[in-house]
Amino acid sequence: NDKSTVSITVVGASGDLAKKKIFPALFALYYEGCLPEHFTIFGYARSKMTDADLRNMVSKTLTCRIDKRENCGEKMEQFLERCFYHSGQYDSKDNFAELDKKLKEREAGRVSNRLFYLSIPPNIFTDAVRCASVSASAANGWTRVIVEKPFGRDSESSAALTKALKQYLEEDQIFRIDHYLGKELVENLSVLRFSNLVFEPLWSRQYIRNVQFIFSEDFGTEGRGGYFDNYGIIRDIMQNHLLQILALFAMETPVSLDAEDIRNEKVKVLRSMRTLSVDEVIIGQYKSHTNGSTTYPAYTDDKTVPKDSLTPTFAAAALFIDNARWDGVPFLMKAGKALDDRRTEIRVQFRHVPAIYLKINNKVPGLGMRLDRSNLNLLYKARYSKEIPDAYERLLLDAIEGERRLFIRSDELDAAWALFTPLLKELEVKRLIPEYYPYGSRGPVGAHYLAARYNVKWGDLGIE
Ligand code: NAP
Repeated sequence: NDKSTVSITVVGASGDLAKKKIFPALFALYYEGCLPEHFTIFGYARSKMTDADLRNMVSKTLTCRIDKRENCGEKMEQFLERCFYHSGQYDSKDNFAELDKKLKEREAGRVSNRLFYLSIPPNIFTDAVRCASVSASAANGWTRVIVEKPFGRDSESSAALTKALKQYLEEDQIFRIDHYLGKELVENLSVLRFSNLVFEPLWSRQYIRNVQFIFSEDFGTEGRGGYFDNYGIIRDIMQNHLLQILALFAMETPVSLDAEDIRNEKVKVLRSMRTLSVDEVIIGQYKSHTNGSTTYPAYTDDKTVPKDSLTPTFAAAALFIDNARWDGVPFLMKAGKALDDRRTEIRVQFRHVPAIYLKINNKVPGLGMRLDRSNLNLLYKARYSKEIPDAYERLLLDAIEGERRLFIRSDELDAAWALFTPLLKELEVKRLIPEYYPYGSRGPVGAHYLAARYNVKWGDLGIE
């Protein structure tokens, strides 16, 4: 309403994520009319910049959707006029107090609501939260903080981070982002499951033989391995993105689609899972590969990676859920860099029955009444020509509106780390050697043996 305002401060505004995702998502929301009437955006970082510099930097990254070209330039100008910059240190209460003063000027006496997006390296999260909450919290509205992964690197460091954040924030002020949860297809998973009567009765060990969650990238770290090397693919992709999708896939029907009901079910299913052990996991690392005249680098050729690094760039794992619905059903995960393909996929293999096909009768578009039978196809590109909003748009809007459904609660995070921490420790303590696979290949053969042990063959839908 016209008595309140939202101020969004992007902390670390000079960085990659801010440029690539956050500002473009904010502009898209503005363009769609989704931001409140009175809003202000502040960039905050140590780099010295003026408002004009920030606007110039941001303007280079803004685009309009193909179907929304109208007034685009004009809208960009209006948006940029509401973007400001304040230069300061992340551990300075004084600098955040200066920001507070500037925010107050923009808020002009309205009820102030403030969202801080921490787009900074994790070692400075706590400093920034302390200073922002002490010096720049909203005086009369809400104050919320979005944090980006990594949320620690094991159970202990994650719990320590949560404890540090909670010195200054309540749980309901913390929005832990997992951008996979903002993706259209992941959102659709719950709709597909719970609002199509044909699926829910099939969703159990009785009909489902195994489920696969596959993430593959067809490029390596390409000179940006410094961050990755400290984490590895299990922490970077499996423990968060793939596990979150698994939880949504396998959870029991929530009491409602409200945030707390959904998150309660996700925690329950995570807690019903067996802790992973080393023999249920295969790790790999890509090595150099020459194809004709092109030579692709090994992971350890990346200048930002130590020469003797054993960090996995590939992992495959078999997980089990010990509850009545899923007893004995293998949930397989596979994630890797520098593979032959780029895709994220959930595959469900049903038990052998003579045949299950789902054919849908459709009316062919047009004036006549011609019917067409098509397979159920959820390939959005083919099905819907509309451009799909970026995950960050949905998540930012949810944070502004206080919708917590797609953010990770601290007990969920604890449960997720509990599953992986013993394995991660064992890999590191024993310095287990990854299986080397050529850049651009299908990954280590070990992954196939692992799957075969559970009577599973990794599927390949062969669709783009
Ligand atoms: P970044 O570019 O490395 O850092 C963002 C800003 O933080 C920098 O512009 C810099 O601003 C400041 N900064 C960097 N290193 C610092 C240090 N050691 N001490 C103090 N300040 C420092 O990071 P990013 O790629 O934008 O990512 C931001 C956050 O999102 C990180 O937590 C990252 O793990 C997470 N994340 C990023 C991506 C991605 O696609 N980039 C994806 C998922 C998660 P000033 O020097 O101007 O202060």
